[in-house]
Amino acid sequence: MKTYNAYDNFLAVLDGAARELNLDESDYISLRYPERELKVACPVRMDDGSVKVFEGYRVQHSTVRGPAKGGIRYHQEVDDNEVKALAAWMSIKCAVADIPYGGAKGGVKVDPRELSENELERLTRKFTSLIYPVIGPQKDIPAPDVNTTPQIMGWLMDEYSKYNGSAAPGVVTGKPIEIGGSLGRTEATGRGVMFAARLLMEKLGRSLKGLKVAVQGMGNVGSIAAILLHRKGAVIVGVSDVSGGLYNENGLDMEKIFAHVSQRKLLSELDSVSGRVITNDELLKCDCELLVPAALQNQITADNASDIKAKYIVEGANGPVTTEADEILGQKGVTIVPDILANGGGVIVSYFEWVQNLQSFYWDEDYVNDLLSNKMTKAFNEVWNIAKEHNTTMRLGAYMLAIKRIVSVKKIRNLD
Ligand code: NAD
Repeated sequence: MKTYNAYDNFLAVLDGAARELNLDESDYISLRYPERELKVACPVRMDDGSVKVFEGYRVQHSTVRGPAKGGIRYHQEVDDNEVKALAAWMSIKCAVADIPYGGAKGGVKVDPRELSENELERLTRKFTSLIYPVIGPQKDIPAPDVNTTPQIMGWLMDEYSKYNGSAAPGVVTGKPIEIGGSLGRTEATGRGVMFAARLLMEKLGRSLKGLKVAVQGMGNVGSIAAILLHRKGAVIVGVSDVSGGLYNENGLDMEKIFAHVSQRKLLSELDSVSGRVITNDELLKCDCELLVPAALQNQITADNASDIKAKYIVEGANGPVTTEADEILGQKGVTIVPDILANGGGVIVSYFEWVQNLQSFYWDEDYVNDLLSNKMTKAFNEVWNIAKEHNTTMRLGAYMLAIKRIVSVKKIRNLD
């Protein structure tokens, strides 16, 4: 099976956007490299008394526009290339959303399903102590990502605070509400995906009502996006997770599925839902109008892109479409709302959480959701307009918008 290099995907689009903007290489060459990469080894005492060592990473791609910002992923396939690409996408995403952050990402190579709760806590505390020198409310602010939860962010916040000498809620976002989390943060990425889909339909003179949607991934992003799209009148015909998928051309019982996956249970453990069992590959190729890949990167590749039936793709996951697949889909006339715009809701509300932490004053949920809607709408329109102006894709348009913003700050600060 072909392996995909996510960082090469990032570089290909970055260079393409810089060319379209007629930038001199010296204006943006620094963005081809992460500013700082930290690799750590986390020894963890297991419940049976043995010690296991887990590799971890924290990569800061850019701090040009503000402190570095990005999630921490726990997954058995995490490696330095993946974390580097995810960090770079965060710099672009924060610039597209126009929030005052650079980009970072972290990861630990672990399958958290194999750890007990106590082992997971010890791993998180060890990892935090090892990345402590490079994180902080004004330096680099982690958040949840694949397999990391508000509770894990709570342990991170607590461990950092011990070294810091006082409670520092602003060091991490996506925390439980009781320790400074923001209302609306857990749902923010999925809600933003729903906004992105709605904004796209509005541009095309349609609405979400009756739109046939398939969603890959029933975790934080996919399940919230699916339930909100369903509640806005879309028909969710397909869903999947790591255990496989379900399809029903007349629409699945999304409320039932949401109640099930919200308890972090697999779709394969769900009984009595009227739908056909399908594989993840079939989910991606299923008969639908809008496809929302919201699981992992490199899901739509040159191997399956020509079989995709959806006319629209809203990327909930980071990097779900490879560069080759992007070209094939473009030739087929598929409109893609790229990850760096579509899943920006999470980091936007993370920014609101950080602002609330810094001012120790907390907002109500409707206010958070309204601000999120405003930010997403503004970013969507800006990307749409620049893409139209240059007769290009929304992905290239989003990169162009972001690079313009980052390069402009570099010039004002006189940074190379
Ligand atoms: P999660 O751990 O909550 O859920 C991941 C989901 O994907 C699970 O349902 C899992 O079963 C499924 N999955 C895993 N491997 C799969 C496979 N091979 N095929 C099909 N499904 C598979 O993670 P999440 O937080 O929802 O993140 C999903 C994606 O969204 C990631 O790319 C992440 O980087 C991105 N993202 C997350 C956030 C956030 O706020 N959580 C923000 C922006 C982007």
